[in-house]
Amino acid sequence: MSDPERAVTMEKLTSLAKRRGFVFQSSEIYGGQSGAWDYGPLGIELKNRVQRFWWKEMTQLHDDIVGLDAAILMHPRVWEASGHVANFTDPLVDCKKCKTRFRADQIPEENLAQKKCPDCGGELTDTRKFNLMFKTNIGPVDDGSGLIYLRPETAQGIYVNYKNIVQSNRMKIPFGIAQVGKAFRNEIVTKNFIFRTCEFEQMEMQYFVKPGDDEKFFDYWRQQRWAYFEKLGVRMDRLRWHRHGPDELAHYAKDAYDIEYEFPMGWKELEGVHNRTDFDLKRHQEFSGKDMQYIDQENGNERFVPYIIETSAGLTRQVLMLLSDAYEEEKVADKGNEDDWRTVMKFHPLVAPVTVAVLPLMKKDGLAELAQEIRQGLKEDYATDYDQAGAIGRRYRRQDEAGTPYCVTIDYDTKENGTVTVRDRDSMEQERVHKDELGAYLRNKIKAYRRK
Ligand code: ATP
Repeated sequence: MSDPERAVTMEKLTSLAKRRGFVFQSSEIYGGQSGAWDYGPLGIELKNRVQRFWWKEMTQLHDDIVGLDAAILMHPRVWEASGHVANFTDPLVDCKKCKTRFRADQIPEENLAQKKCPDCGGELTDTRKFNLMFKTNIGPVDDGSGLIYLRPETAQGIYVNYKNIVQSNRMKIPFGIAQVGKAFRNEIVTKNFIFRTCEFEQMEMQYFVKPGDDEKFFDYWRQQRWAYFEKLGVRMDRLRWHRHGPDELAHYAKDAYDIEYEFPMGWKELEGVHNRTDFDLKRHQEFSGKDMQYIDQENGNERFVPYIIETSAGLTRQVLMLLSDAYEEEKVADKGNEDDWRTVMKFHPLVAPVTVAVLPLMKKDGLAELAQEIRQGLKEDYATDYDQAGAIGRRYRRQDEAGTPYCVTIDYDTKENGTVTVRDRDSMEQERVHKDELGAYLRNKIKAYRRK
């Protein structure tokens, strides 16, 4: 792995993603739509599994968190209250010569000071503020009266429903609300594959606490989010914390940390943990005229506007992180002068798009039928694939590239004594297991999984 030629790059990921059906460029036959990507058969399985992993972690494993699915289209006043209409802007500069558009906060300071394009050396325009929200129109007339935004974050859907949920589900502070859904931002710089897109998905959890308890729960949620990635089997030396300095803090935040991942293009934000204080609820109280106070019945009906700790993750960005983290090129054999390499995606079995592939050694002599029968027995519990085409070694490599952790091979011994071989993706070791014990065997392997 020390060979730099064998290291993961964005080009390799983009090409593997297309070749194997993880991610395709949106509207490719029309030349592509920038900032938008389509998830293919393997990509949607990976994305769904990551979402389920997060959802289970947040809701099933935390007794005090419930879920919500709010609409993408919200009352436009929401975005005035949240500060997005006034503040959700990126500073932009354009190069007068090569016409490239940059985010002023993403180019070197000396270029900005000298108004010199980092690409071609041409002259840059003054910095302009540009709002990132997509606007559209609701209703039959398009005269501005039906202005509506595509939500730029899922969080506000949670804030405007917080009182509904307290009442309907008798939630007691501290408690959280989790939500996964699409968000839209008119991003100008959308290179780097699915890292930054105009349409993406977020997995957000807003945790409501008593003012004064916020710092304690902020630390708690930082620790919980770190542990999540350990559980997901991510290479922890590629993760680090970045605390926002005073210039970086969003208009609502008292304190904020990002978890950064070392992507092929460098260290970048993966998700954020933010102390949003009572900013959002107070603003909604002001703009809607509705009382947003929580009534603490266990403490003499004390009233207060809760503080909010937010954990805000990008689902699609986490998919990119996992593609990048899983990718390995390994030397598997020395064939005289020629080295034999394999590309293997080492996804954790809990998120791998396919968990088990069933492969008959030959199509003939009833092996294919037997393999189908064995696959049938696994389907209820596992995502399976079936492949009978080509040499067995080639079929293993195909599964390695898809990131399938286990391949079950059916051969003549299976007919004789009912045993199959299970090939482990990471170690490439093979074990013989009786077909009736396959389900339990795989369950134990997945539970004990550690990346090799
Ligand atoms: P940036 O400053 O990089 O534009 P941000 O700090 O404003 O992003 P947040 O608003 O905190 O990002 O969003 C929370 C999470 O949502 C991010 O950590 C990221 O995982 C995801 N996210 C935000 N914008 C995008 C995007 N354009 N494409 C994909 N994921 C995104």
